[in-house]
Amino acid sequence: FLKPIEKINALLELYPRGMAGFRRYCELMDTEPDVKDADDAIDAPRLKGNIEFNNVTFGYENHSHVLKDINLKVRAGETLALVGPSGAGKSTLCSLIPRFYEIDEGEVTIDNIDIRAMKQQSLRNQIGIVQQDVFLFNGTIRENIAYGRLGATEEEIWEAARAAHLEAMIQALPDGLDTFIGERGLKLSGGQRQRLSIARIFLKNPPILILDEATSALDTETETMIQQALEKLAHNRTTLIIAHRLATIRHADRIVVVTEEGIAEQGRHEELIAAGGTYARLSAAQFGGGAGLATV
Ligand code: ATP
Repeated sequence: FLKPIEKINALLELYPRGMAGFRRYCELMDTEPDVKDADDAIDAPRLKGNIEFNNVTFGYENHSHVLKDINLKVRAGETLALVGPSGAGKSTLCSLIPRFYEIDEGEVTIDNIDIRAMKQQSLRNQIGIVQQDVFLFNGTIRENIAYGRLGATEEEIWEAARAAHLEAMIQALPDGLDTFIGERGLKLSGGQRQRLSIARIFLKNPPILILDEATSALDTETETMIQQALEKLAHNRTTLIIAHRLATIRHADRIVVVTEEGIAEQGRHEELIAAGGTYARLSAAQFGGGAGLATV
């Protein structure tokens, strides 16, 4: 009886840390950000996902400002890719949407509601995050997918597995959904772990999605499968992609170039290429020079 509660507790603790950590910053995160609900915080209604950053300034404790006076509007359903040099603040900008940190100035609103007026849990329930380091717990595939929405039915779990291109793999296992994974069970590849986290989010069905694109190379087949699953996942949701490979974001509704000075330029791929600015240079470096990253 206590076991599932312990599991959920462990996950709730890990969730903000995992997001805020974003790859290599994990080690910096030995203190939990201390964001509290306001006394009169409301349960967020089902959000459409119109996100606005209005004059947002933010710096980590004891650090100078990483984001200065940022203004950005993301329309509900839009796919917006963030590109730019490493350390410019792309991950930081995204981590402010689930309110993992308190901003210093300005406001972040979703559907015109300041996120500080919402209960964090009700806000975070409506945001799906896909990142490179997938957290899986020791348990069955079923439990790991169902974590996206506790109480999901068998059919809903299969539907999520199908959408994430995991169905065939699960069907080939003697114990199917009841196969144990983790330390004492089946060891999943990086690509399978990613797809499992995608299945979770299909089940969660949030209106807002944050994708922290993988930097490590996967084999082409896995890569294509994940790309297709992510495109399906992004459909009809407000999606922010922290992009490292420009090839995957060519078709984004909008590309925003973030530099240390702030938002340098934004537009569609063709527009930014024609403008001949930072994006065009990154693109030339990447496609001209082979497999470089968008974060030079
Ligand atoms: P990359 O493409 O390499 O992931 P990024 O554009 O996403 O980079 P951020 O991860 O947002 O950049 O980092 C922006 C700045 O904030 C960097 O100088 C980084 O060192 C700093 N930073 C990030 N996370 C933390 C943290 N938890 N505590 C202190 N400083 C941090």
